[in-house]
Amino acid sequence: MRVTHTAPLAPLTTLGLGGAAAAVAELHDLEDFPEFVAFAEAYPGAPVPLGAGSNVLADDSGCSSAVLRMATQGIRIAGETADGRIRVEVQAGHSLADLVDTTIAAGLTGMEMLAGIPGTTGATPVQNVGAYGQEISDTLVEVTVWDWKLRRRTVMDAAACGLGHRTSVFKRTRRWTVLTLVFALHRAELSAPVTYRTVADELGVPVGTRVPAAEAAQAVRAVRHTKGMVLDTSGIDHRSVGSVFLSPEITPTQAADLRAHNAPVHRFPDGSTRVSASWLIKRSGFALRSPVTTGVRISSQHYTLVADEGTDATATTFAKAIDVVLQQVQTHTGVTLTPEIDRIGDPTPHNAHAHHSSLF
Ligand SMILES: Cc1cc2nc3c(=O)[nH]c(=O)nc-3n(C[C@H](O)[C@H](O)[C@H](O)COP(=O)(O)OP(=O)(O)OC[C@H]3O[C@@H](n4cnc5c(N)ncnc54)[C@H](O)[C@@H]3O)c2cc1C
Repeated sequence: MRVTHTAPLAPLTTLGLGGAAAAVAELHDLEDFPEFVAFAEAYPGAPVPLGAGSNVLADDSGCSSAVLRMATQGIRIAGETADGRIRVEVQAGHSLADLVDTTIAAGLTGMEMLAGIPGTTGATPVQNVGAYGQEISDTLVEVTVWDWKLRRRTVMDAAACGLGHRTSVFKRTRRWTVLTLVFALHRAELSAPVTYRTVADELGVPVGTRVPAAEAAQAVRAVRHTKGMVLDTSGIDHRSVGSVFLSPEITPTQAADLRAHNAPVHRFPDGSTRVSASWLIKRSGFALRSPVTTGVRISSQHYTLVADEGTDATATTFAKAIDVVLQQVQTHTGVTLTPEIDRIGDPTPHNAHAHHSSLF
C-alpha cells in the first residue's frame, strides 16, 4: 500500500479538477486491505473509494477523509456457473477495457458492447455501467465488498447490489468498497445482437445481427471515437467524464413525440424508455465547443461538458456549468436532467445529495 499525504485529487481524475485529499492510499495487493482499514480510522468519515476517476468531480476544497485508490490487478477465468456460463473473477482495480478484451480473446461474450468505456472494474456496479445495449447487470454474479458500517468483508449477490439504470445500492454512499467481482459469460463466437443503429451501420449489417464479438467491440470503439466517448489524451476534449447527465426516462407519449423529431429513444433492460441527454442539450441551443462557464464548454464532438486545457476551469465552474445546462434544458424541453457523475468532497447539509454520504 502506497500512501501520499495531502494528495492533489485533480491528477487522479479525468477532469483534472479539485483540491487535495487529506491522504490517498493506493492499494496494489488485496492482502494489504486490513492495513488500509486501520489507516483510514485516523480520518473523518468512511474513506472514498476511487478507481480511474473517470466519473467523478472532486471539490475545490478537497476531502478530509482518506481516499482509497484501487489499483489491484488480475482476471481469473475459473469454472462454470450453475447455468453453464463461464465464471470470470476480477480484482476491483483491473481496467474494464482490458477485461472486455481478455474475455473476447478467451471466446466469451457478454461484455463486447462495453468496449471503450474507461475506468476500473470495481466501479462498474456503482452505476451499473452500460452502453450499446449491454450492462454490468447482464453478467454480474456477485461482488466481495468491505462494509464500513458493519466493519466486515461480505459477499453480495447481484440482486443485493440493486442494479438499475446507471444506479445501484453503491451509488452516492461510501458504505461499501468493492474488492473483487465475479461475472458469468457465455462461451460463444458471436456477439449479442447489435441493437444500436450506429453500431450496425458501422458494421454494415442490419440491426439485430450477431457478429464475431471482436468485430462488435471494434465497431463500438469506432462509434465511440466519433463522439469523443473514448479517453484520448491527445484530443482537445480529453478532460471529460463522458456523459455528465443520465438519459432521462420519458413517457410513451413523449417517446412518440421525440421519435417523430428523430431523437435517439431507447428501451433499457430495466423496462424504462429514455432519450439521450446529449440530444436534449443540442435541442436546447448549445453548440459544439461553445463556452458554458469559465474554462468549461461543450465538447467539440458531442453534446456533453468538458474542461478546457489550462487552469481556468475549477470544480466550482464545472458544477455551475452543470446547473446552466440543467436550467436551459428544463426551459427549452420541459425535461429535468439528473447528473450522472459523483462528487468527491466533504458533504454539507447543502450538497449532501450530490456527494457520497459519510453517514451511510
Ligand atoms: C470518455 C468517457 C466515456 C464514458 N462512457 C461511459 C459509458 O458508455 N457508460 C457508462 O456507464 N459510463 C461511462 N463513463 C463513465 C465511467 O467510465 C464509468 O462510470 C466507470 O465505471 C468509472 O470507473 P472509474 O474507475 O473511473 O470510477 P471513478 O470515477 O474512480 O469512481 C466512480 C464512482 O465509483 C466509486 N468507486 C470507484 N471504485 C469503487 C470501488 N472499488 N468500490 C466502491 N465504489 C467505487 C467512486 O467512489 C465514485 O463514486 C464514461 C467516462 C468517460 C470519461
